[in-house]
Amino acid sequence: MSSPEKNLALLMILAGPTGTGKTTLCDGMAAKYSGIQRVITCTTRRPRDGEVNGVDYFFLSQEEFDMKVSKDAFLEHAQVHNKQHHYGTLKSETLDKLSDNCDLAMNIDVQGVAAFQKAAENDALLKQRLVTVFLMPRSLEEIEQRLIDRGTDDREEINRRLASAREEMLLWDTYDFCLISGSKEEDFSKIESIWKAEKQRVTRMVG
Ligand code: 5GP
Repeated sequence: MSSPEKNLALLMILAGPTGTGKTTLCDGMAAKYSGIQRVITCTTRRPRDGEVNGVDYFFLSQEEFDMKVSKDAFLEHAQVHNKQHHYGTLKSETLDKLSDNCDLAMNIDVQGVAAFQKAAENDALLKQRLVTVFLMPRSLEEIEQRLIDRGTDDREEINRRLASAREEMLLWDTYDFCLISGSKEEDFSKIESIWKAEKQRVTRMVG
């Protein structure tokens, strides 16, 4: 009888409306488990107070972003929140790292997840490693309150994000998991459970 030979790395993607704490959950996983890296994505939006280039995002000018698009450096890229800013995930930060068997956690918007799901259809490595989790807020009012409490967006931006949230919430059933958001601790514990269970999947222990 053969025994488990491998422990293949995972790419866990968290998506869902703004204000559900996706970034904090990814950071938390990377902080608690030294083997997990948070994927740094690219954006053309300006850094918020306290955000650091190369840590929170790769903050790019529109020209730098367009150059990466022309070089086919992105696995996916999209305009998020009513076409305000560009965001993109580098192949070097995802596919290359998975090839090196590095465990990854990341958060992107629902368009990004759809692009990953499509890419996985023709990419055996990605298909074997991808786990998608939708974070469902309990209500739109709760998101609005979280955005107000965060204090980083003006009213116009909050309205834009709420409009995106409404549309994103329709897509929950295209994910592997849907987590109804509770307290930060509850959400983190559920994400950990999903991660641990997915690491034991037999399809990730063989060739
Ligand atoms: P924020 O501007 O608040 O940091 O992020 C706005 C949204 O962009 C969030 O939903 C975040 O998950 C998403 N996002 C961040 N990076 C990427 C990316 O590389 N691709 C896509 N499609 N969405 C991203």
